Amino acid sequence: MLKLNDPTLLETRSFIGGVWENSKNTFDVVNPADGNLVAKVADFGKTGVRKAIDAAYAAQKDWAAYTAKERADILLKWHDLILENQEDMAQILTAEMGKPITEARGEIGYGASFIRWFAEEARRIDGDIIPGHQRDKRILVLKQPIGVVGSITPWNFPNAMIARKVAPALASGCTFVGRPAELTPLSATVMAVLAERAGIPKGVLNIVTGSDAAEMGKELCENTKVQKITFTGSTRVGSILMQQCAGDIKKLSLELGGNAPFIVFDDADIDKAIEGCLISKFRNAGQTCVCANRIYVQSAVYDKFAKKLADAMSDLKIGHGSEDTTKIGPLISKTGLAKVEDHLSDATSKGAKVLTGGKRSDKGELFFEPTVLADVTNDMKITREETFGPIAPLYKFETEDEVIERANDTEFGLACYFYSNDLSRVWKVTEALEYGIVGVNTGLISSTEGPFGGVKQSGLGREGSKYGIDDFLELKYVCMSV
Ligand code: ADP
Repeated sequence: MLKLNDPTLLETRSFIGGVWENSKNTFDVVNPADGNLVAKVADFGKTGVRKAIDAAYAAQKDWAAYTAKERADILLKWHDLILENQEDMAQILTAEMGKPITEARGEIGYGASFIRWFAEEARRIDGDIIPGHQRDKRILVLKQPIGVVGSITPWNFPNAMIARKVAPALASGCTFVGRPAELTPLSATVMAVLAERAGIPKGVLNIVTGSDAAEMGKELCENTKVQKITFTGSTRVGSILMQQCAGDIKKLSLELGGNAPFIVFDDADIDKAIEGCLISKFRNAGQTCVCANRIYVQSAVYDKFAKKLADAMSDLKIGHGSEDTTKIGPLISKTGLAKVEDHLSDATSKGAKVLTGGKRSDKGELFFEPTVLADVTNDMKITREETFGPIAPLYKFETEDEVIERANDTEFGLACYFYSNDLSRVWKVTEALEYGIVGVNTGLISSTEGPFGGVKQSGLGREGSKYGIDDFLELKYVCMSV
């Protein structure tokens, strides 16, 4: 049973137009660690989404008319309330999603940092005055909020993925309709509880919970009152949303799948590389879109790296996320587990060797042991697809040019990592890797200050940083004769 300091934070209704709404249907949210019911949550479909869009549309002009400082002050209050309730929010997150509680606490802090960052950015949405092209002409550029923003978010970072979207939306004067993943709606509704307490006006932030993702997503994409969709999830669904948005040329930001290479050159600091690899690979039990998915190690250090990685793995404690010492929690679902097992059996049937792990854990139905696979080759599924689980496949390489080519040989382009202490190599490889994010001698790249985002089929647009607000603003070019 979930014990919270403030039990009113566990909210099972949807927040629509500033009102907490029940629906006649509900869906179950269960804890993936033990299958226990966490809550029954209001199940809205397209009618609920439409109502929220109408409320957001009605509220938008007023919200945009607030001064930037007024909007920033409300967002900062929201940020403070989130940090005051960090522990309860982390408990809710771990209960519905399974990640270790220490990671859940970190995620709440990370999510809050976006709210603070964009509250600060709200006051620096500066326009431009440009020298005119004729003597009597003056050129001005205004930046205005895009309007109503529809958001669709996944279960793996159920707080932070919303925070990264809602914060720039609200800071810029947009209003927001969020549809959280059906597996993790409670991390979204608790944000709305605190948003209401912070004084965010009615209709500005809406959270609609529901189990029919396709129906709700279609309404968000096709409703002409929504000016922009922001989505984090798979490339498959991103492509569906893009097609649905084509009807009214709706703007889109997409954070999609990855297939991150993690490259260790023979001049690297191996211990540092092991540490970075563990962080990048096993955070959230390997269920992040920036997880190292293919680990390329230069031949001179391959055996040493493989042994050290396999040894380090035995220290990772598997367990229920609510225990403070847990490092690896359960996978999110049977489908997630099936994919991990499929990738593993495909690889071993084609000659990959299990160095450690390689099977389900006895901790429960959805737990899988951290696994290191050696002798992985290009024809295995694990090389082409995102595994989203705790398997580290190792590839041996000989030369820099070879590994760059192999690392880029994917339709994805989100994050990549490499370890080297050779300065000219660092520049050359950084420039050659076709990725939106490059971690050099680090496995941890997510930050509020940096522009997170992918190239190729990994997405459109950037979240966080000074660039993160651009996607929520329209430019207005004013040509004035004086
Ligand atoms: P993941 O593998 O991370 O679950 P998905 O792309 O399947 O990635 O899901 C990301 C989010 O998109 C989730 O909230 C999911 O419910 C939602 N979703 C899934 N299918 C659709 C769809 N056809 N239209 C809109 N949203 C969808």
